Amino acid sequence: MNKPFLRISPLGGLGEIGLNCQKWETNDGTFLMDCGLMFPDDSHYGVDVIIPCFESLETNKDKFLGVVLTHGHEDHIGALPWLVRFFRAKKIVNIYGSAFTLALVKHKLTERGLIDNANLILVETYDTIQLGSITFQAIPVCHSIPGGYAYFIESKIGKIVHTGDFKLDDYSEFYPLESTCAFKNDLFDFAKTGIKLLLSDSTNIENRNHSASENGVKDGLDQIFMQTKGRIVIALFASHIQRIRTVFELAEKYGRHVIISGRSLTTNITIAEELGLLKTPKIYHESDETITDLTRENTVVLATGTQGEALSALTRISSGEHKRLALHEGDTVIMSSRTIPGNARAVSRMINQMYKQGATVFHDDRFLIHATGHACYEELKTILEIAKPEHFIPIHGEYRHLAQHAQLAKSLGITNCHLLEDGQPITFYTNDVIKEDSNPVDFVLVDGKGVGDVGRLVLKERRILSNEGIIIISLVIDKETGTVLAGPTVISHGFVFEQQFNHYLQEAQCLILEQLEILNGKNLDKLPEMIRLTIRRFFRDILAREPLIENIIHFV
Ligand SMILES: [Zn+2]
Repeated sequence: MNKPFLRISPLGGLGEIGLNCQKWETNDGTFLMDCGLMFPDDSHYGVDVIIPCFESLETNKDKFLGVVLTHGHEDHIGALPWLVRFFRAKKIVNIYGSAFTLALVKHKLTERGLIDNANLILVETYDTIQLGSITFQAIPVCHSIPGGYAYFIESKIGKIVHTGDFKLDDYSEFYPLESTCAFKNDLFDFAKTGIKLLLSDSTNIENRNHSASENGVKDGLDQIFMQTKGRIVIALFASHIQRIRTVFELAEKYGRHVIISGRSLTTNITIAEELGLLKTPKIYHESDETITDLTRENTVVLATGTQGEALSALTRISSGEHKRLALHEGDTVIMSSRTIPGNARAVSRMINQMYKQGATVFHDDRFLIHATGHACYEELKTILEIAKPEHFIPIHGEYRHLAQHAQLAKSLGITNCHLLEDGQPITFYTNDVIKEDSNPVDFVLVDGKGVGDVGRLVLKERRILSNEGIIIISLVIDKETGTVLAGPTVISHGFVFEQQFNHYLQEAQCLILEQLEILNGKNLDKLPEMIRLTIRRFFRDILAREPLIENIIHFV
C-alpha cells in the first residue's frame, strides 16, 4: 500500500503554551515541525526544563528527514540539543530555518558541544525546501523575533499552511526584521487554488481585538524617554530585536548611553548585528562593567529577567544586589514584556522591590510599552477567512485556546475542525482523513544532567519533601539476638523544629524500641515496615502531618 498520506502527531504545544513540536510522517520519512521546550512551574519542584518525548522517533531513525523551524523562540527551538543527542550515534540532524533562527540554534548547540552532529540549512525568505515528496516555502511573518516564518506546503495530499507564531502588523516599519502585511497577501495568492489544511497559532484567541503595532510601542517608549530625568531601565525578552532596535534609536535621539545587562542580550545583539539586522548605537556598553563614571541621566539600561528569574540582571537590580546598577529615586523601570502566567508572583515581588528603591515603574497600560507577538481574535479570523481551508487544526495553546479557535473556524463555515491534543495523531489521505488512536504523551523532565529520570514518583517525593519534610530513623541491631547496638536516632529535616519538638522525637524513639520488644528477637525482617507504619501513624495523630519516613536499619 503506497497510498500517499500525511500523519501529524503533536508531541507538544497542543494543550499548553510552549513545547511546540509536531511529528509529521509521510510515505518518504518523518520530520519535526519545531522542537521547543517549556519552562517548569511551581508543580515541577527543581526541574530545569521540560522537553517533548522523542521515543516515537526511535522506530524510523534512518528515515528521519530533519527539523523545520518556524522561528527562534525557546518554545520552538529549545529542545534541539536533546534531539541532536538522541540521534548522535546514528545520524547528523538536518535543521532548517531562517538566518536568525539558525544563528540562535548554532549558539545553543555549540555551547553544548553538539554542533558537529547537526547540519544547519539556511532557508531564505520565499525559498523552498524539499523533504521527501513535500515542498516547504518559507513565508515571512511578523512576530516578536526576527526571521519568523510561516510555511506554505505542497504535498501529495494537498496544500497545507502552517502559520508558526505570527501577528498581522500592517504598520510595521521594521524591515528587514519584519515584512509588513506580506503574509496576508501571500496567503491570498496561495489560497487561490484551495487549501486542504490550515494549522494556525491559537495563543491569543481570547484577546478579542487586534494586536498593537510594534510602531505604537516606539511612540509609548518615546513619551517615557521624553519625561524621564533619571536612569531608564528597560526589561525585555533578549530575542526581541525589533524592540531592542527601538530602544537604540530612542537612546540616540535623547543622547543616552546604552548599557546591556544580561549575557543573553549581549549574545543576541551580537548575532543580530553580524546578520545586518541591527546597528548598535555610537555610545554603547555591551556589559555593565565599564560604566562607573556615567551619570544616571545619561543612561538607559537594557536588562534581561522580565519573568522575575532569581539570578537575572533585573531581579538583582530591583533588590539592590546588583553591584553597579542600583535603582534610585527618580529612576524609571519599563517592563516591556508580557508576564507568563506562572511567573506572576515572582514578577509582582520584583515590582514591589523596585518601588521600594524609589523608582517609577511602568508595568501597566498607562503607555503602550509592549505589544504582543501573537495574532488576536480579529487577525485569526482574517487568516481563516483568507485561507478557507478544507480542514483546520488549531495549534499552539492550552485546550481552551484551541477549542475557541475551532469554534471561530466553525462559525466561519469551516466544517472540518480537528481539535487535537498532544499524542493524538491524525492522518490525511488524498480523499480521506482518519483520527488515529491517541498515544498518551509523557513529557521528559530535565534536571541538571538527568534527562527523564525525574518522573511522577520523584516529583511526588519532592512534593512531600517540600510540603511535609522528612524523618530519618537510624538503628543498628544485632541480627542474632535482636539487641540494639546503636540508636535509635530520629532526625527531622523540614518537618519540625527539633529543639522545640524534641519530646516528640524522643517519644518516637520509644515507639521504635517498643516494636523491637513486640518482635522479641524473631522475624526481624518485619521491623523496618513496622517502624515506618508506627511512626507515620504517631505523627499523623499528634501533628496531623505526614512526612517522608526514611529507615536506615543495619543488622550486624
Ligand atoms: Zn514565538
